[in-house]
Amino acid sequence: MNASPTQDAPGNLFVVAAPSGTGKSSLVKALLELDAKLSLSISHTSRAPRGQEQNGREYWFITEAEFRDKVTHHDFIEWAEVHGNLYGTSRATIESRMAAGEDVVLEIDYQGAMQIKQLFPAAVLIFVLPPSWDELRQRLIRRGDTAEAVIAKRMENAHLEVAQAKHFDFVVINAVFETALFDLKTIVHAQRLKYAAQLRHRSAVFQALSLC
Ligand code: 5GP
Repeated sequence: MNASPTQDAPGNLFVVAAPSGTGKSSLVKALLELDAKLSLSISHTSRAPRGQEQNGREYWFITEAEFRDKVTHHDFIEWAEVHGNLYGTSRATIESRMAAGEDVVLEIDYQGAMQIKQLFPAAVLIFVLPPSWDELRQRLIRRGDTAEAVIAKRMENAHLEVAQAKHFDFVVINAVFETALFDLKTIVHAQRLKYAAQLRHRSAVFQALSLC
């Protein structure tokens, strides 16, 4: 695999994954509203827009042929097939934002998260778990997935996805929204307190203490 400029980038990369219905999107949205230094990567997808979704806001909506063309041209830093649709993260966007020192959040599935970790070991992988299988089922029903077959399929996928949580750096349990949000903020904050990050951002202090 080619070395990527992101490996020495000054920005942090946070990857958040979770089964659908866990509340991942709401948590990430709230996190972004609280932290102006974080920016969300807008993925490309071959799936059609749902409801009020807008091109360039939730996703860049493209055809499957366009998606596969981008794969051929290595335009994605990671990509995966999820529930029969293709999803990918733009390489150019991530590399330029991180090189500029921005902290970027990727809201992607576990397959994409594993690819990111391989390419960029410093990435922070966060898995959001539901508090129980019963609660996840209730949330799927409350969200409008009322057909038993749909719920059964999502629950089956959720079991497969949750089994991957052990490969992640951090686990956030979304039982109480505010607590889970606090946990997410804490992870982001801790990452920014790491020695290398402090050295980069607080170099005057390090110089004054003759540490660099
Ligand atoms: P949805 O179609 O419900 O918006 O997303 C389905 C799944 O695809 C979610 O788990 C979501 O996080 C994931 N996903 C969205 N964008 C990407 C991406 O760029 N790469 C990967 N690997 N997964 C993605």
